[in-house]
Amino acid sequence: MDGTRTAAPINLERVRKQYPDGTVAVESLTMDLAAGETTVLIGPSGCGKSTVLRMINRLIEPTGGTIRVDGVEVGGQDAAKLRRSIGYVIQNVGLFPHQTIRTNVGTVPRLLGWPKVRIGERTDELLTLVGLDPERYGSRYPHELSGGQRQRVGVARALAADPVVLLMDEPFSAVDPIVRTRLQDEFRRLQETVRKTVVLVTHDIDEAVRLGDRIAVLSEHAHLQQFAPPAELLAAPANDFVREFVGGDRGIKLLAVTPIPRERLNPIGGLSKAPADRPVVSADATLQEALAVMLREGSNSVVVTSNGTPEGVLTADDIVATLATPGKPAPVVE
Ligand code: ADP
Repeated sequence: MDGTRTAAPINLERVRKQYPDGTVAVESLTMDLAAGETTVLIGPSGCGKSTVLRMINRLIEPTGGTIRVDGVEVGGQDAAKLRRSIGYVIQNVGLFPHQTIRTNVGTVPRLLGWPKVRIGERTDELLTLVGLDPERYGSRYPHELSGGQRQRVGVARALAADPVVLLMDEPFSAVDPIVRTRLQDEFRRLQETVRKTVVLVTHDIDEAVRLGDRIAVLSEHAHLQQFAPPAELLAAPANDFVREFVGGDRGIKLLAVTPIPRERLNPIGGLSKAPADRPVVSADATLQEALAVMLREGSNSVVVTSNGTPEGVLTADDIVATLATPGKPAPVVE
């Protein structure tokens, strides 16, 4: 598949939505979403997340402000054409029940008039990409798949015409927690390959931390409280609203998004290979993985290795100190 195709930036400028009954769902939202990144919109129910998402592909028309995709105002474009260039994934997918999986995935390419052979190739390529064997599943109908498999088909369908933007509204909420975690992992791997500009709505902070390059925390009327990478959001919540929203266990969550601080490692004492009797963790692991190894092995330190060569020792105290002073220079280790 064409993994090199560029993704498009999205710019929202004083975007507003007031519904006909007077409800102001989005008061005045300004934010720039970088091309090729996953931006997560999170906030309490009713704060306007879905409205924001659906204004990007014009399923909902804004009542003020401007939205640009790749620098072009969406308001001036043909709505149907625009929607074919923007992938959209929703909870429970909305697959067509009387069409096979292949036909479902080929929906947009068919609307775009692609030749049959190309649609067939593309469909099989996408199904493979989302982990479904086209031979096995392509001719089935949606009810013959599990919820998690259907969700994968939904993602494949949204990516079929290689859109530059992918909008996802609570895409993994309808499946059980184990399947959800697996789908989230798969999505991360997929996004590393396709590098779309993804806007994902969720109310689940763990999902936001796991999937977002940046997280936008919204309060009522889509007021933007903080817009930051997960580690920054967890380490330095901008205000009480964000602090409460990310939860009292934000330190635990932070472990999963903080790499091992190489500058903080203690000298290993001249060893050229990792000693067999000490737990070892790879230098590209997170603090969560390092701590998990310590807990599993009943040790308060681990040897950090890079390609099998020991780089230094990380202690439990170092982990605590790293989280206590995120982004600050590490103290000199004697
Ligand atoms: P979220 O996705 O964060 O749960 P929504 O964007 O769905 O929030 O809704 C934001 C606000 O707009 C809510 O108060 C909701 O009740 C209201 N709303 C959504 N759709 C409509 C509509 N068609 N007419 C009137 N109010 C609406």
